[in-house]
Amino acid sequence: MRLVLVGPPGAGKGTQAEFIAAHLAVPKISTGDIFRANVSQGTPLGVEAKRYMDAGQLVPDEVTINMVRDRLAEPDASDGFLLDGFPRTVPQASALDKLLADLGTALDIVMELVVDDDEVIRRLSGRRTCRGCGKIWHVEFDPTSKTDICDRCGSELFQRDDDKAETIANRLVEYADKTAPLVDFFGAQGKLVGIDATGPVEDVTVRAIDALRSYGG
Ligand code: AMP
Repeated sequence: MRLVLVGPPGAGKGTQAEFIAAHLAVPKISTGDIFRANVSQGTPLGVEAKRYMDAGQLVPDEVTINMVRDRLAEPDASDGFLLDGFPRTVPQASALDKLLADLGTALDIVMELVVDDDEVIRRLSGRRTCRGCGKIWHVEFDPTSKTDICDRCGSELFQRDDDKAETIANRLVEYADKTAPLVDFFGAQGKLVGIDATGPVEDVTVRAIDALRSYGG
């Protein structure tokens, strides 16, 4: 199955993508993760992407599309994939459709995780990441026993630059301007499935998997 997850920052795309990809036995391909890996390795792509990421802006389409084209050409993606965080603009969506058409295939479903702005701000501004093991905590929903120290490995926690208040506001504006139009784009193709992404993580996963079942997933 070829699936895309869309939704605002903080909708839980990354978390749900893990569960759904495991359920479907397809690779999870997250453009945010690929960019972050490039940033931490200091590659030329990472240096370029970081400027945009830290400002809460989208990395230019051409850079992002080329990166996804290379990733989808890898053998593990030949029978299906779950894209998390791509496409995020209408030009990216058109490029993806074309890229898949060239390969003789197409997307099956675009799943939208629906959450309102207030909830997004609460979720993102409280998110903390462990410098040691990478585990993600939340000051309100999943706190550590000692402030800013990881319960799992004892390392210090930090706040991702793009989870800071001003950057969150920019990311929400970017989402409304550039990504929300994808809902209509894929809706017109009859591929859009909306899921209520509020409430416990497990409940959202159940809703997502139930919805996929009706598409044979
Ligand atoms: P994410 O972890 O998906 O929220 O992505 C983190 C950041 O990476 C975003 O705020 C963007 O700066 C960049 N990014 C990730 N995916 C894309 C994309 N499809 N198009 C442009 N920029 C992206």
